Amino acid sequence: MRAIHEPDCCNPLATSRAHYQQHGTLSTVANVLQPAKTSITSPTPEASKKSSLVDLCEGKELEGFVIQQVSEIPDFHCKAYRLLHTATGAQYLHIYRNDSNNVFSMGLRTTPNDSTGLPHILEHTTLCGSVQYPCRDPFFKMLNRSMATFMNAMTGPDYTMYPFSTQNKQDYHNLMSVYLDAVLRPKLRESDFRQEGWRLEHEQVEDPTSPIILKGVVFNEMKGVFAENQSLFGQKLLNTILPSNTYGYVSGGDPLVIPKLTYKDLVAFHKKYYSPSNSRIYSYGNFPLEEHLNYINSSYLSNFEPSSYKDTSVPSEKRWQSGKSQHISCRPDPMAADPEKQSSIAISFLCSNINDIQETFELQVLSELLVKGPNSAFYKTLVEPNIGAGFSPVTGYDAHTKDTIFTVGLQGLNATDFDKVVNIFDKTVDTVIENGFEERHIEGVLHRIELSLKHQSSDFGLNLLFGLTPLWNHDGDLVKALKIGEQVLQLRQNLKINPRHLQDKVYTYLKANKHRLVLTMSPDESYESKQAQAEQQLLNSKLANLSEKDREVIYQQGIELKREQENSADTSCLPTLKIKDLNKAVEETPLVDHTFNSVPLQICVQPTNGVTYFRGILNTSKLDEDLKKLLPLFSQVVTKMGTKKHNYREVDQLAQLKTGGLNFSSHVVEDTSDLGAYEEGIIFSTYCLDRNVKDMFELWTELFNEVTLEDLKRFETLVRVSAADLVNGIVDMGHHYAISSAASLVSLSACRKELLSGLSYVTKMREIAQKTDLTPTLNQVQQISSLVLNKTHLRCATNLSPNEKDFILSKTGSFIESIPGICDKPFIQTRVLDLAHPSGVSPAIHHVHAIPVNFTAKCVTTVPYTHGHFAPLRILTRLLTSKYLHPLIREKGGAYGSGASLSPSGVLNFFSYRDPNSTSTLDAFDEAHAWVSQNEFTDQDIEEAKLGIFQKIDAPIPPGSKGMNKFLYGIDDEVLQKHRLDLMTVSREDIHEVSSDYLDRNSKSKCARALIGPENKDLKSRSGEEWKIIVQE
Ligand SMILES: [Zn+2]
Repeated sequence: MRAIHEPDCCNPLATSRAHYQQHGTLSTVANVLQPAKTSITSPTPEASKKSSLVDLCEGKELEGFVIQQVSEIPDFHCKAYRLLHTATGAQYLHIYRNDSNNVFSMGLRTTPNDSTGLPHILEHTTLCGSVQYPCRDPFFKMLNRSMATFMNAMTGPDYTMYPFSTQNKQDYHNLMSVYLDAVLRPKLRESDFRQEGWRLEHEQVEDPTSPIILKGVVFNEMKGVFAENQSLFGQKLLNTILPSNTYGYVSGGDPLVIPKLTYKDLVAFHKKYYSPSNSRIYSYGNFPLEEHLNYINSSYLSNFEPSSYKDTSVPSEKRWQSGKSQHISCRPDPMAADPEKQSSIAISFLCSNINDIQETFELQVLSELLVKGPNSAFYKTLVEPNIGAGFSPVTGYDAHTKDTIFTVGLQGLNATDFDKVVNIFDKTVDTVIENGFEERHIEGVLHRIELSLKHQSSDFGLNLLFGLTPLWNHDGDLVKALKIGEQVLQLRQNLKINPRHLQDKVYTYLKANKHRLVLTMSPDESYESKQAQAEQQLLNSKLANLSEKDREVIYQQGIELKREQENSADTSCLPTLKIKDLNKAVEETPLVDHTFNSVPLQICVQPTNGVTYFRGILNTSKLDEDLKKLLPLFSQVVTKMGTKKHNYREVDQLAQLKTGGLNFSSHVVEDTSDLGAYEEGIIFSTYCLDRNVKDMFELWTELFNEVTLEDLKRFETLVRVSAADLVNGIVDMGHHYAISSAASLVSLSACRKELLSGLSYVTKMREIAQKTDLTPTLNQVQQISSLVLNKTHLRCATNLSPNEKDFILSKTGSFIESIPGICDKPFIQTRVLDLAHPSGVSPAIHHVHAIPVNFTAKCVTTVPYTHGHFAPLRILTRLLTSKYLHPLIREKGGAYGSGASLSPSGVLNFFSYRDPNSTSTLDAFDEAHAWVSQNEFTDQDIEEAKLGIFQKIDAPIPPGSKGMNKFLYGIDDEVLQKHRLDLMTVSREDIHEVSSDYLDRNSKSKCARALIGPENKDLKSRSGEEWKIIVQE
């Protein structure tokens, strides 16, 4: 079950592939361990199972491999095995851990020397069919034939990786086979290259009189990526600070350079880089290593020779003798809170070699001390004076590249303040070198690392892979990197010998370091037109050289590609799981209901590894409408303003020292059997080491009783930073916002969610950030605090280990007792009437944004979760996604993603993501029922749609999150079990029935549409739709 607090439309097809280059995230192993707020998931229940790996010792030969190193990693309860494939030199890392969510990945070092996007386009085309799996797009097809908990492919600045995870052994072998075949024996047909990379094609493929334009999946994807100013900024930063080698180029592809790439280059690039000799293979989990090795060697590696490719390793960057500055332009942001303040600056330094593990770790700690939270030096000097709208996303330590990078960046500032920022930066560095860091601050950072070692997530094996890949790519010592405990000890030792140890590092890297870049960026009104002009010029130059015959070829190729895309592919060559292979029964979660002072507490005893989890829901239905709209802002600031006993810096420090964080967020959940009722509130959540339970609850008691929401300046800072983050996220979350907008026109609970997390909220925050006096807003936030921070409408849940149960529960009881109020009605539902629509017309919203791509959505009302139609509707959305929308909107239309989903609120959503089209996509949504009626899907297609849904339902849940279906969504094991059986037995007839009941033009369902994108003249001519145009000024 997906968390409803996440974006409502998490479509695996839109999100599971090719997340291009996440700059500045997941850069080191230590960084990976920063507790994830949203994804807490499962380790391994079967703790007693013994590994067969005990007799695998160093030097032993096994299935063509030799074991080079075996090492216990006690910090993570795992054992690492490094192997080498003798014949080809392929490297292999296996991490044995008693975790059922097994991971596999094949990684290649890919170091392009141009910006044509070669590695990225190759990553896409390898997944378009291989020798053993010749059908079109086996990767996407496998999404539906598997129980994968993760499937993806990614292109980094100097590597490409193909990872997946699954809990099912048969599935693991199926996927491993498809992945290895895709990487090592792809078909790489020219038509795949044109579909995924770039091509010239008539705008209307079948109309030779329509203009010839540039198309291609990656071409469009990268246009979308660089539509975000901060992505452009991050890319430019990397290219400029590391200019000499592969990092000087855009590995994902510069849209203006991509069309220089030829098919021949692609094939040559594959030959050079995708050989076993240049590969790094990873497996993780509790499946036997020997079986993996046997299969990989006998089916693939043994058929390959060691390759004679030239070395792909990346040389270190030659250090600069003096600092550099560069300025770039970007697109003006119509949503910017203050139009005068749209510039960004980054001060960046090249630091240590990634292979210096201890140095990387210490720089990571240093980065936390310098830029994270209100106690950090740069937060105090650069964020708090409100020069800009907070740190830019490039801020922090980035250990993705051979030479690592530390950056402090500010966004949302006036270009006239650039020099001021540089001065403050230099002064801050001097102050830190002189005064050093508070011991409690350092302890706070180290405590977080200790806690993250114990906090279990279901994607642990994947996170380990992402953390290790950059290091592995440069042949670093993986085992050493995994021993975080030793790195912590070493740092403590270093500090003991030299108390100025960290200050000395600041001097070395941020003061004496000549390899320093100051990059600035400001909007240019003509940016968009210049870009469009450059693209047009590129196109013209291509068209100028075309002969009549070339034009004929372009027309024919367009027709052929279209025909190929329309042909239903024969997927019988692909392996598949069957629904009958899945468990019939849900795995039950034992829960105990308890009360303290009449406050209900759900208790879930789990093997949590010495960590206690606590959550509470405070109902907010009684608040005035004005205050409700400010709840997300309240949630953002309430833990960051201080209490009567401790100022906000001290509160942050205590939270760092004793907890995994103090979080508030919005909670809107529909009744499972009545769409006219929902629970609304805010949820607070936290966790800590068992030994800190008393301190953690004391901190919460203090917050509930003595929070002070008075510091206006502090409030201004938080508001500005929050507004800037929201505005920056629009392009990234475009599909979420489009769905939220459309849904708010058909459902009142969706309307509530739109106010709390949709564009309405973004607009609201933008307005607040523009106010000169925030006193009235702060007064409202105080009012919320006095109304909700009590136990009047409170219900709670805790997940804890059996060992300390009684102690933890007694502390939980004291906390509940300590907070004000008398519990009365812990669970309240808000009842709403139906939204009325004039018949015959369906409402629609167009949010006009100056971006080069569209996000579209259409929403249709259906039934609540427990209704008999919910299961077939769910299967229908999955079927539509993979068999109808994906071929039409992504493959043919060139959109980055598209799909249909059914929200727990019973709203069926259609959406597209980074879509070059708008109205034709909306037409495709409208034709969905006609497609179903043609009945051209097979039984296997239905089976696959079911598997797709079960991937979500059976995703591993970590001990800290068990029982949350019940607590958050009111779905207990019994309801879940019924839904499970309903899904399994959905028939073809059921699908037809719900399609005609809800998607037919004549059905009684209400529907609405939304579009986020540039000005659009075609909307006016659409019949039966009433478009409201919202232009941001
Ligand atoms: Zn991509």
